[in-house]
Amino acid sequence: MTGQASAQIPGQQKYPNVFSPLQIGPHRLKNRILMGSMHTGLEDVPNAAERLSAYFAERASGGVGMIITGGIGPHETAGAGAKLITAEDVDLHRKVTDAVHTAAPDVKICMQILHSGPLAATPDCVAPSAVKSRIGRFVPNELTEDGVEEQISAFARCARLAKEAGYDGVEIIGSAGYLISTFLVEKTNLRSDRWGGSWENRMRFPLEVVRRARAAVGPDFILIFRISAMDMLQGGLAWEEVVSLAKGLEAEGVDVISTHFCWHESFVPTIATMVPRAAFTSVTGRLRKELGIPLITSNRINMPQVAEEVLARGDADLVSMARPMLADPELVNKALEGREDEINTCIGCNQACLDHTFTGQLTSCLVNARACRETEIKITAAAAPKRIAVVGAGPAGLAFATIAAERGHSVTLFDAAQEIGGQFNLAKRIPGKEEFYETLRYFARMIELRGVDLRLCTPVSVSDLEGFDEVVLATGIKPRTPDLPGIDHPKVARYIDVITGKAQVGQKVAIMGAGGIGFDVAELITHEGVSSALDVDTFAREWGIDFKNHPRGGVTGIEPKVASNGREVTLLQRKSTAVGKDLGRTTGWTHRITLQRRGVQMLAGVEYRRIDDAGLHVVIEGEERVLDIDTVIICAGQEPARELYNELASQGCEAHLIGGAFEAGELDAKRAIKQATELAVVI
Ligand code: FAD
Ligand code: NAP
Ligand code: SF4
Repeated sequence: MTGQASAQIPGQQKYPNVFSPLQIGPHRLKNRILMGSMHTGLEDVPNAAERLSAYFAERASGGVGMIITGGIGPHETAGAGAKLITAEDVDLHRKVTDAVHTAAPDVKICMQILHSGPLAATPDCVAPSAVKSRIGRFVPNELTEDGVEEQISAFARCARLAKEAGYDGVEIIGSAGYLISTFLVEKTNLRSDRWGGSWENRMRFPLEVVRRARAAVGPDFILIFRISAMDMLQGGLAWEEVVSLAKGLEAEGVDVISTHFCWHESFVPTIATMVPRAAFTSVTGRLRKELGIPLITSNRINMPQVAEEVLARGDADLVSMARPMLADPELVNKALEGREDEINTCIGCNQACLDHTFTGQLTSCLVNARACRETEIKITAAAAPKRIAVVGAGPAGLAFATIAAERGHSVTLFDAAQEIGGQFNLAKRIPGKEEFYETLRYFARMIELRGVDLRLCTPVSVSDLEGFDEVVLATGIKPRTPDLPGIDHPKVARYIDVITGKAQVGQKVAIMGAGGIGFDVAELITHEGVSSALDVDTFAREWGIDFKNHPRGGVTGIEPKVASNGREVTLLQRKSTAVGKDLGRTTGWTHRITLQRRGVQMLAGVEYRRIDDAGLHVVIEGEERVLDIDTVIICAGQEPARELYNELASQGCEAHLIGGAFEAGELDAKRAIKQATELAVVI
């Protein structure tokens, strides 16, 4: 399906498959990249039309071929989010579709219809049977025969209203543990009527939904159906059932099948940064051989080269990139124009997107604080360009310097280190965090492009800051050293020295502090072999996925073995809460499981007493213990690095503080970049 290469447009030569158009009925997609559905929370904000429109229009202008909106409910029982049920609901959607079609008339926008079924956060939630999901809040109400009919009609009505609202099509989500998928799977469908029991009966609901939706919208409206090609759950669909469902959907008039690889309650990570890029596309490729309609693949496809490889392999007809469009709305245009080194790459952290969604906050993006705040954070030319000194080229300093320079300020960026990145240079060394290199590549290019005057290997003192109109201090943090007898003992190592390889680490190790860094250090010092984030086979082995034989749900059900170098590690904290509880909502569990499978012990409620030749003396539940260890690694949090600020202040000079230098407690790169961005757009 190679497109016509053009000598003028570098992207078409480099990514011929990506930039090959695709015809779907009367609709022409200009390229093979679509923005996948994401619930941002903007849908639910009252009077959100302007914000939603700006968010989508910016992505449409960025060159993507098609946009799928966040999920919209077809029925009152569908979930807490936005719905499209009545003619009045159409108005909001009309504003969004108008904005997208005005911004980019050649971009298609489809609305996702999402009925959350047993995952809906309402006691009125419904399902084929009263089977509570592990992650659901309520036992769902079993649908009666009439209730089933009402839901099918609701899907059809929703599709018709979407057409009235100006969408080019709809995507019906039939995966992930939402309503439709619970009809398909035996363990959630216990019915004995014509909607349950045999495979033909279990598949009847999705087929009927599609048949009626197609009848409601006519032939020229794009109908996409999202199936779970691998449920990642024991007892999920068998491969033959996946194929049978897809063929049935094709026969009922679906234009495009989108492949999904999860149920939300699965214990297999499918989009976190530890998942290899494009890990699951081979499954789409296998299904593609069975069908005559286009297929969409997804999950951890975050750069144009990856999309091109997936398409070139014949794994799919279209590639869905969802979070990468939060990180960089212009991703596709940058690829087309040969500017891929300017792409702000999604690092798969989930920290500002999915973690926000699951904690009721508006979605944004760690690497792009403007995401979903396009109407609030505008990068405009500075009215009066200034000379600005920025001290510290960690995430905060980098974000500030590059945005301020984009606005026309003359920015000098200092760092004492030999390279930009601050603590990201430590983070990128942790197996599973390889994507952090991309953020540093992006900022390096932005420094070049925006003309930031970068001065590395330059420890800054007060006298260096004379002559600037503004001084921004992004000097980061100093690791905290607990006040403990024996803290200077030779057995004690600082996390920075461990990560950079300066400190020797023994066989028996205690890690003091079980925050994000304690976990990362435990990962690093127990790791063996290739990083599973870089190798699909290793990843599959470590998470019990069987791509070859595709057992039900795609998983073996046998406790997987995770390679370990045999170090005996104990991770300690003083709090009595579960160790790792405060890690990211959608990723913390993956770290906890991985370390447990490597045999790492986790102890909470620990009182530290002293460190000496015998080991680490602690009290746990009132009992004194000596942990016989070779090395204690200190990961006990951080304090702001404010020496320069204090010196400036003592001389009556003002400076802005951002990132860790502003506040080290609960600091992460998300907060550092957000704070830097907010200052850079107003200074
Ligand atoms: P820093 O990154 O600390 O940068 C400060 C910079 O200032 C340094 O480069 C330093 O050399 C420079 N500097 C200081 N004083 C001077 C001076 N006087 N003159 C010149 N230069 C100076 N965060 C996340 O959000 N997600 C993660 O997954 C994550 N993983 C992490 C893993 C590890 C192993 C570590 C160590 C951190 C991780 N973090 C993570 C935390 C994240 O890196 C920090 O929150 C972030 O780097 C803070 O940014 P900053 O710009 O405020 O400071
Ligand atoms: P942290 O998350 O604040 O954890 C610090 C740990 O040290 C805690 O376990 C704390 O627990 C302990 N501690 C605090 N004071 C102590 C003291 N005086 N003596 C002994 N122990 C003490 O900080 P961090 O691990 O250094 O991480 C820094 C930031 O980087 C975090 O805020 C995090 O957001 C970010 N980060 C994020 C990730 C990620 O994957 N998202 C990964 C790495 C880092 P007790 O007080 O209970 O002992
Ligand atoms: Fe990607 Fe992280 Fe941004 Fe989410 S927050 S879009 S995972 S970079």
